[in-house]
Amino acid sequence: MTWEDELEDSICTIEQLKEYIALTPEEENQLRGIIERHPMRITRYYLSLIDINDPNDPIRRMIVPSEGELDTLGSYDTSGELENTKMPGLQHKYSQTALLLATNNCAAYCRFCFRKRMVGLSNEEVLRRFNDAMQYIEKHKEINNVLISGGDPFVLPTDVIEKFLKRLTTLPHLDFIRFGTKVPVTFPDRILEDEELVTLLGDNAQKNKKIYVVTHFNHTKEITQKAIDAVDSLNCSGITVNNQTVLLKGVNDNPETLAELQNKLVGIGVNPYYVFQCRPVTRVKNAFQVPLRKGYEIVENAKKRLNGHSKRFKYIMSHQTGKIEIVGLTDDSIYLKYHQAKDPANIGKFFERKINETAGWLDELE
Ligand code: SF4
Repeated sequence: MTWEDELEDSICTIEQLKEYIALTPEEENQLRGIIERHPMRITRYYLSLIDINDPNDPIRRMIVPSEGELDTLGSYDTSGELENTKMPGLQHKYSQTALLLATNNCAAYCRFCFRKRMVGLSNEEVLRRFNDAMQYIEKHKEINNVLISGGDPFVLPTDVIEKFLKRLTTLPHLDFIRFGTKVPVTFPDRILEDEELVTLLGDNAQKNKKIYVVTHFNHTKEITQKAIDAVDSLNCSGITVNNQTVLLKGVNDNPETLAELQNKLVGIGVNPYYVFQCRPVTRVKNAFQVPLRKGYEIVENAKKRLNGHSKRFKYIMSHQTGKIEIVGLTDDSIYLKYHQAKDPANIGKFFERKINETAGWLDELE
């Protein structure tokens, strides 16, 4: 079976899901309504990681739709992506970085996705004018790196990925290229069964420009032998693999789990990069977001269990105005700092807000 066939064989319907996970008639009805709006896709591999006897299994929480998605509190564009869009599929928020949304498809659709408005749906935000996008990057010499994301760019055929690299690696003002992909976590066979992809990335990384893979492990259950092999294969070909974790209610919202995850990632050659505060996304916020006060305590207690290498990540709120690091807490106040900002004048700005038990986002702080 090729990786394409394997991906095609994913779980996308309630009937397929019911072969593995028992659903009450009520749940079944709810889920049908939910996946009409936000499609379900679960690779057979990722499904196999779920303990079907545990309704609170963390993988299940992340990938199987649930009634929490009926809550529509929040917004579909929490980071101001629309206002940073220069043309379909190209965003330019921070001066040094261009973001390309190469596809709206992923190997599996995470229920907490902050691009829920577009993943798996027909959407106008995906890159359409490849040449125009390349010309934009070519013209903007302040851009020193490009992040190719989506959706998940590694579900694209290898020759399409090659087309991106061929153009981008010729631009002298780019220092490096990043791919944002969850494939090592949800579909490692994409990497293990397509030598051409790893060769393409490795050749470019060694001869042209450094390539970084930014992946997305959220729980130690995702660190399987296959995931380890996929990471090894990238590392061995000269690709650096970094990780972003999202702090998620019912998945990794305790210090032990979060610390174990970061430590084990370092053990397999993945560098902790960010722990993200879950964004207040419509159909996500209530189901997955941990309040900031609790989130800070979890992260700090996790750090107490980690050595310096494993706690290099920053706890970040990726806000419309920039990436805000959550740096401190007292009884009444939370202390924040712009790690990156849409307005360069704000970079490094340190500020304080009143905190309560429930606030989950900057806009909810006094
Ligand atoms: S793989 Fe990434 S983009 Fe795709 S659904 Fe998951 S979090 Fe969203």
